[in-house]
Amino acid sequence: MRSVFFPKLVNGPFGDPGLYVRVAHRRQALLFDCGELYRLTPRERLKIHDVFVSHAHIDHLVGFDTLLRQFLYHDRGPVLYGPPGILEQIEARLRSYTWNLIAGYPLAFTVREWGATRGREGQFRAANAFRLEGERPWACDDGCLIHSGHYRVRATPLDHGDIVSLAFVLEEPLHIGIHKDALEHFGFRPGPWLTSFKDQLRAGFQDDTPIEVPLLNGRSRRMALAELCSRIAHTERGMKMVYVTDASPTTDNLEKIAALAKDAHLLVIEAAFLHADLDRARERNHLTAYIAGTLGREAGAARLWTFHHSPRYQDDPERIEREAEDAFQGRIANAAWPF
Ligand SMILES: [Zn+2]
Ligand SMILES: [Zn+2]
Repeated sequence: MRSVFFPKLVNGPFGDPGLYVRVAHRRQALLFDCGELYRLTPRERLKIHDVFVSHAHIDHLVGFDTLLRQFLYHDRGPVLYGPPGILEQIEARLRSYTWNLIAGYPLAFTVREWGATRGREGQFRAANAFRLEGERPWACDDGCLIHSGHYRVRATPLDHGDIVSLAFVLEEPLHIGIHKDALEHFGFRPGPWLTSFKDQLRAGFQDDTPIEVPLLNGRSRRMALAELCSRIAHTERGMKMVYVTDASPTTDNLEKIAALAKDAHLLVIEAAFLHADLDRARERNHLTAYIAGTLGREAGAARLWTFHHSPRYQDDPERIEREAEDAFQGRIANAAWPF
């Protein structure tokens, strides 16, 4: 399957959490957790459309200031999603600066708070010195944060000590592959019309919706959506990417993660400690590499990335990744799984 999501760990496996996902054909990116962001270029930062914060520990949110600085002269800032309390935490962060000279700036952005039954949202505008306003309930049924034709994002709460850490699932609702050779065969000229053709397919437009197809000879031809699809495209289950971090190694969490990651194309999961340090992992409310790899294996994930490694393993940086990969490939197994 041709990828529509292009992920990268902003700070590598030992740095602050931040998974930057470029969305193909959208000039947009999504950011899962908001640790240090100085490794992203300004151009990359400005593409960020939505930010999903697992929880407000400093390593997951310290990059917020960098983002704010980047968007300060723009009219739109990313929508920020986070766990209960994030509205007040962002408000407090904004209140810690002096804003007497920005009344003419157009920047406005929204913060949305996940909630087990329902969420809340609020706005912050430069014109109002970034005071919290327009606070109101916000529906996030079944943890669904975004549902557009191009992607949807769901959140699930995991225990991280006595706070919630949100895990996120990013999915492409329907994958549409275009056959380049078919385009050539029929004399169709590739171009932006293909993006709107895919948009209409995903949005479930009627089969007979007319599509104007530009031809290589400079003319164009009108075709029905379904007929065009049967000639140049195929559809299949969309891509699924799962982001899990800062979760206590409890049975309840592990069951939730295994269910979330079921058949994921990519599982990006924290592996803070080696399994030999499980006691430490329990104490710090983090997963071990062995647990991360085994979860990926049990869920049938196609690929596994681990990150958020403790700096204590930096003298042999590949060791922790190796443990996760060995568990993922089934090369090590612990009869007493999960512990
Ligand atoms: Zn963390
Ligand atoms: Zn944490």
